[in-house]
Amino acid sequence: MALPSLTRQLLWERSGYKCVLCQKDVARSIHVFSGSRSFGALCQIISEDRESPRYEWLKEYDYYDNYILLCSDCSSEIVENWERHPSARLKTLRGVHEAEIRTAIAEEKRQKQEKEERLRTLQRITSGEQLHEIIKNVMDFEFEPCEVSLPEETDFISNFSQDFLYFVKRLHFGGGMGWIEMLLTIINSKIAELEKQNFQLYGKQKQVKNEDGKIVNVACFVIGTNLT
Ligand SMILES: [Zn+2]
Repeated sequence: MALPSLTRQLLWERSGYKCVLCQKDVARSIHVFSGSRSFGALCQIISEDRESPRYEWLKEYDYYDNYILLCSDCSSEIVENWERHPSARLKTLRGVHEAEIRTAIAEEKRQKQEKEERLRTLQRITSGEQLHEIIKNVMDFEFEPCEVSLPEETDFISNFSQDFLYFVKRLHFGGGMGWIEMLLTIINSKIAELEKQNFQLYGKQKQVKNEDGKIVNVACFVIGTNLT
């Protein structure tokens, strides 16, 4: 009997697609041209292979507790140096590893919720005029770009952030009507570019205590994504 596909899926997911022994990221399949991750395999802790030093007679081998996700190096290691990796130890390690993965997933979810809640307290900014209101009478700015994973997104967000802060500071400094209007037009087009890439700008004015203990107005801006 082979290991049921649902059990396989659970073993992969609960191990977070990482080798239980060395914590290396492992893949179920690799894209030939872009993949640099190493393969992982679900290995029997007590082997049904009579030739294996890990062999013991069991009535049934294919059940959740008898499997462990390992990278190719570690799957050789537990056979070659089997005395160093008794089955009870492997089961304990898998339990600890799965608990760590659960904690990491819960933490990630908590951070995401925290950011969502914070964004709800901010105003979605879709125009330079709205932004102009927020920066009136402020002493300082706070700016938080969102976390992105793709390299092209990183470039986009870092360029946007630089330009955005530059023009917002100019706007804050003020000037004649024509100058302000020109800045607002540029900021409008920057925000439109941001929205086109599925990011949003949020902001609000808030009061904070400065170093001298005085209450001052601060404008804070956060970039959100559809994913956060
Ligand atoms: Zn490994």
